[in-house]
Amino acid sequence: MAARILSGKPIAEAIKAEVAEEVNLLRSNGVQPGLAVVRVGDDPASAVYVGSKVKTSAELGIFSEHIHLPGETSHAEVLGIVADLNHRSEVDGILVQLPLPKQVDAGVILEAIDPSKDVDGFHPMNVGRLSIGERAIVPCTPAGVIEVLKRSDISIAGKHAVIVGRSNIVGKPMAMLLLRENATVTICHSRTAHLASITGTADILVAAIGRAGFIRGDHIREGATVVDVGINSVSDVDLAAELFDADELEKRLKAIENRGSTLVGDVNPKEAMAKAANFTPVPGGIGLLTVAMLMKNTVDAAKLRRGI
Ligand code: NDP
Repeated sequence: MAARILSGKPIAEAIKAEVAEEVNLLRSNGVQPGLAVVRVGDDPASAVYVGSKVKTSAELGIFSEHIHLPGETSHAEVLGIVADLNHRSEVDGILVQLPLPKQVDAGVILEAIDPSKDVDGFHPMNVGRLSIGERAIVPCTPAGVIEVLKRSDISIAGKHAVIVGRSNIVGKPMAMLLLRENATVTICHSRTAHLASITGTADILVAAIGRAGFIRGDHIREGATVVDVGINSVSDVDLAAELFDADELEKRLKAIENRGSTLVGDVNPKEAMAKAANFTPVPGGIGLLTVAMLMKNTVDAAKLRRGI
């Protein structure tokens, strides 16, 4: 039987509606949550991400400010802007869009953000608080995965969750969040031996690798829940043919023809659909949750900082 598709759209919409309601309540008490997004340079993907963050803020009644700096802005200047935002009381959340140009040290910049305004959850203080089980602002994408699992009635406690990928942005915080939900957690990475024998025991398999269609049917336990965090742009027609069944392939080939590429996850969708019980699609899955969770983090930060 084909897997149930866990679509991100209704879940992201529900979270945004809840956030909008909270914002209304806060505004009726004279508090408007505010988000500042800092972008340095002209990376086209960053422009799209920042655009969507600013637009969604406006839709939900969150005040937002987009600070766009030239690509040659110095490290000291970016640091100065972060310091200024740390002090501005109407700014509850500060997000510095990555990647930063090479003269700007991203690690130092992220550590300079006031942890109580760190809505990306990347500051070592928030990373540490999450790992010792204290209230923390948590990274948006893995937080979105937890929302998808919970709101799709997939139980986590006592389950074996295997994460492929150990980045600070996805893999590691994902492990901490699943542990917080009482899963038994295994983290795999590029040096893991016998990967398929480990992923093949997962009740919940999270792929955050950055390689199109890397997780195949033989990595997946029959009846598992497979969460595909990957976002890869594929222009290779032969690779697309390996990933999609006839109907979907036709759409994907059209996309490659018209736009030059199509978005693909880290999991082979055709094989996952045949083996898993639940599967998040790409696009239309976890990717949609990231901005929704950023909005939620901004409102949570506004409340936390004001002791609400
Ligand atoms: P990184 O490149 O930072 O990390 C990739 C991880 O995958 C590393 O830990 C790496 O291991 C592991 N890996 C690479 N090759 C293999 C392999 N052959 N076998 C097992 N593990 C392997 O990527 P990110 O975590 O930032 O992103 C992962 C994916 O998620 C990407 O496709 C990205 O586009 C997507 N993403 C989606 C988001 C969203 O939905 N909004 C947000 C962020 C990311 P090692 O550590 O040993 O090198």
